[in-house]
Formats: sequence, C-alpha cells, structure tokens
Amino acid sequence: MGWEEQVRRVVPYIPGEQPKQKGIIKLNTNECPYPPSPLVKEYAAAFETELLRLYPDPEASLLVNALADYYGVDADQVFVGVGSDDVLAMSFLTFFNSEKPVLFPDITYSFYDVWAELFHIPYRCPELDNDFRLVKEDYLTENGGIVIPNPNAPTGLFESLDTIEEIVAGNPDSMVIIDEAYVDFGGVSAMSLVDKYDNLLVVQTFSKSRAMAGIRIGFAVGSKKAIGYLKDVKFSFNSYTMNAPSIAWGMASIRDDGYFKETVGKIINTRERVKKELAGLGFTFPDSMSNFIFASHETIPAAELFQALKQEGIYVRYFNKPRIDNYLRITVGTDEEMDRLLTFLKQIIH
Ligand code: PMP
Repeated sequence: MGWEEQVRRVVPYIPGEQPKQKGIIKLNTNECPYPPSPLVKEYAAAFETELLRLYPDPEASLLVNALADYYGVDADQVFVGVGSDDVLAMSFLTFFNSEKPVLFPDITYSFYDVWAELFHIPYRCPELDNDFRLVKEDYLTENGGIVIPNPNAPTGLFESLDTIEEIVAGNPDSMVIIDEAYVDFGGVSAMSLVDKYDNLLVVQTFSKSRAMAGIRIGFAVGSKKAIGYLKDVKFSFNSYTMNAPSIAWGMASIRDDGYFKETVGKIINTRERVKKELAGLGFTFPDSMSNFIFASHETIPAAELFQALKQEGIYVRYFNKPRIDNYLRITVGTDEEMDRLLTFLKQIIH
C-alpha cells in the first residue's frame, strides 16, 4: 500500500448527467429552461477581456453589494462562492467542528454526507416522516450543527418559517444552515431571521431561479459574526474563487428583478399545471414548492419509467436509494417540454 495508506479517500458526489447529444429534453438537474436575464447578455457582450489580466476583486464587492441591497442586509452579512456547493462546503468546514453529530434528513441533497465524510464530521440523519415531512423534535436534540434544505430536495416540500425558527431558536449552541436552493419557487426565505439569530446561515444559488448554473454563483446571508468566520476559512483556502465575469454578470442578474420574477412566475405556472396532469395519469407526489416534481406512479415502477423516458430522449432523475426508489424527480421545463413529457407518459400509461 505505501503512500496510498495516507490518501484521504472519499466516495464522491455524482452529479446528474449532462448529455452531449442534441435534442434531449433535459429535466434531470433542475436547471432553468429559460435563459438568464437579457441584462446578463448585455454585460457579457460588453465584458472587456483585457480585464482578465488582473486578479478579480477578492471581496467580489460589486456582486456582494448588489445582493446586500437586494436583500436589505449589510455587505458584511453576505458571502459569495462558486455555486452554493462551494458555499455549503466552506460552511461545513467552518461551522461543523464538533465531536457531536451534525443533523440532516435521511432523504435530502446527497452532497451533505459527502462533505461530512470528506471533512471527517460525524453526522446523523433523522428520518423524514411517511409524508416526507421534517420531524421538528429530531432537530431539538444534541448536535454539532444542522443543515436543512428548504424546500427539501428531492421531495420539493417546504417547511414553514415557524418550524425553521423553532429549530434555530432551540439550537443556540449550533450553527443551523438553511439551504434555500429552491426557495424562489414559492417558499419563504429564512433571511428575515438572520438579524435575530446569529447561529443561522441562509444559503441560496443563481443556478435555478436565476438561470445561471453555468457561471457558478452561490451565496450565504447571515450574521456579521458568522460571515466573518466563513470568510476567514475561505481566505485560508483560495482568495480568488469568484472570477471577474461571475462578479459582473451576477450583479447584472440581480439588477433585473422584473425578468427574474417573470421567469419564476412562468415556472410556477407550468409546475402547477403539470401537477394536475400527472395526478390525472395516476402519479402521486409531495406538493412541490420547487422547480421539480417528485413523482411516483401507482402501477409502473419508477426505474422502468426512467429507462423508457431516457430512450425517448427525455432525461429525468432517478435515485436508487431506500424509501425513494419508486420516484422520479422531474424538473419543470418549458410548457412545450412538459407537453412532450406528458404526451409520452400518456402513451405508455394506459
Ligand atoms: N443545494 C441543493 C438542495 C441542490 O439541489 C443543489 C443543486 N444540485 C445545490 C445546493 C447546489 O447548487 P449550485 O452549486 O449549483 O448552487
């Protein structure tokens, strides 16, 4: 074995497939089916490549200030990173440093346990109830930190702000991270609580509602103290995570609020229509407040539907894991894309 005994061995997270073929209906990674704001396009066209000579602003101030303005917090309450995966990884490293286990649900974003393993953080996964609801009491037990996605992935379920507040208030000795990757599609953000609780960190992303998964921007909002600790760790790791185009184009996206709201509105309308149609075809699903629907069919196994859809060039996500192996996670695409999905499903479900 020799040197290999020293290797930090990990089982990596496996992201959803990014097929290379053209013409695929891609409903497998919760991307936005619409383009980013036209203002982003303008900024991209005007971007001076000459600028790339220089290191970017390590504080990413243009983007941080735009986010602070938009959410009505101070700039030193905002942290930005390379997608929310980067923000979450840095947050795990910063705040989860106890012998006690970090808590997150058994059915949730499958990156959490990977970071916990990578950083040697002990963790425990309380079970969601049979309706995939969070059991609040499970998070009012001893722990070394908490991470809860709200809405949850892959269920799409949103837990009330009251529930979140009770968990934050009940854990003054732990950091509670609320991962709000999907909150813009009908949830309510916990950001309004960050001035009240300094042990709360709210994490969001530009990858879904802002249609910018390709540029990789995520951010956290929290108390000045928490953001300060997070920055100390980040600046001990890599000063220049945010590149110059991300900073400029991210700011442009924030400035075009009309477009943002319009896009999110379209996705919500499509989602609600598709829910009705899927129910009519014999699917059941938690009442998603996100940009995906987690659906199970009354007779046809999900694994079978997944393969049939894939052959048809319609990619959805299937997780072969306990309790959820009869569900498909279907991203809400455009109305046309969803119609093609529904038409195909009608053909195979008689
Ligand atoms: N949190 C959740 C719950 C997610 O589903 C995702 C998307 N895979 C992320 C965080 C990370 O998204 P990104 O790094 O693109 O911001």
